[in-house]
Amino acid sequence: MTRLHCTSLLGALAFVLIGGCQNAKPSTQPSTQPSTQQSTPSRAVASDAKLVARCLELERRALEDNVAIATLRSLVMTAPKRLAGSPGMTIAEQWALAKMREIGCDEVRAEPVMVPNWQRGVETAATVAPQHVPLRVTALGGSVPTPAGGIVAEVVEVRSFEQLAAMGDAAKGKIVFFNRPMPRALRRTGSAYGAAVPQRSNGAIEAAKAGGVLALVRSVTTAIDGYPHTGAMHYQDGIAKVPAAAVATADADQLSAMLAKGPVHVRLELGCRTLPDVQGFNIVGDYRGSDRPDELVLIGGHLDAWDLGTGAHDDGAGVVHCLEAVRLLKAIACRPKRTIRVVLFANEENGLRGAEAYAEAHEHEVDKHVAAIETDGGGATPQGFSCSLRGDAAAAMEQLFEPLDRVNAGLFLSGAGAGGADISVLHARGVPCFGLWVDGHRYFDYHHTAVDDLAAVNERELALGAAVIAYAASALADR
Ligand SMILES: [Zn+2]
Repeated sequence: MTRLHCTSLLGALAFVLIGGCQNAKPSTQPSTQPSTQQSTPSRAVASDAKLVARCLELERRALEDNVAIATLRSLVMTAPKRLAGSPGMTIAEQWALAKMREIGCDEVRAEPVMVPNWQRGVETAATVAPQHVPLRVTALGGSVPTPAGGIVAEVVEVRSFEQLAAMGDAAKGKIVFFNRPMPRALRRTGSAYGAAVPQRSNGAIEAAKAGGVLALVRSVTTAIDGYPHTGAMHYQDGIAKVPAAAVATADADQLSAMLAKGPVHVRLELGCRTLPDVQGFNIVGDYRGSDRPDELVLIGGHLDAWDLGTGAHDDGAGVVHCLEAVRLLKAIACRPKRTIRVVLFANEENGLRGAEAYAEAHEHEVDKHVAAIETDGGGATPQGFSCSLRGDAAAAMEQLFEPLDRVNAGLFLSGAGAGGADISVLHARGVPCFGLWVDGHRYFDYHHTAVDDLAAVNERELALGAAVIAYAASALADR
């Protein structure tokens, strides 16, 4: 068979196979090559071939149309600042409603949820003795402010909560500087993040327990640069609330070097504040299933973003993945049996109120959620999925996802937990959950910083992520 014949046959085959979805149309560029086509395929092989063809067609359309990056540009230009509670949140909600209608969701709605309203203010820091050195800092989300003019105190450096506790009174009245680096040797950067992030989440609590007056936390990244990384932090009832800030890694290293030579005093001022909760919304769009519309495959990301950058990766990319997944399925005339529901959650970053409100509002139909997929790892090249299931149930899903091997996204990590913070509430209610797994080596260079912006996102990588979400959602919805 000549190459020409092969291509023509495969194009026709792709048309027939994608016909598993309603109203399928032939591809104009039949570049797909299902690996399993035979003259008399078995039933199982035919099913696999149909899914392989769909997977390849989604990838081809995503790359060719290149709509994902345009959608992301639209989001970050329309609502560059969209932290929950901010005016930008409302603009983002309106943008999302309009975009869902534009792509042709069958039903679009805004579901109310009260969200926190924490606002950033002035944030400055410098060493004041033995000499003046500016420090690039940012308030952690939810921090209380310092007094006007800032706090001036000696700095004590620690690498762990255990080390701090063992110091006894040595941290009393001091700024506690948590300087344990995010470990470099772990290949999975999410795991490395997990190893370092408790300093940020709970540093203020531990600093206060030790009598400290402020928590200063090394930014959670392996990059050594001048960008402080914000992120969520917590207080604990009964323990004093001390201000908490992150310091850029380059400045953390410099401060540590100064401390190695002798005592250092720092002045740090934060003007952040918490105002009363405000009304926000989860934005929900249904792409109705053809046969079992009451059964749902949820795909979601979070619409809110930290305020330093524009949240292009976190989680603008996830928002775009989900919206683009529906657009792509419609573009290849694929309407799966079950409904695919896009949920753009409010307030993932500093509260998870959106996720909790969704679970409460949909408690009556939680058993109708046959699966939930979250994308909140940024817009880099997709590699596969994590899956909450184990054993035979996971094996069946792995087979369903096997066609993703053909687009280099066949990684399948079973027994891997909820797959994301927003769908963790559904995981807790027994819904099988999946998380999009992307190349994570650069993600924490940008995460929660001023440089999480459009320039950090590659248009092809973003489009590939959308195609992979579209495939996974449709395969689960057709299962
Ligand atoms: Zn996120």
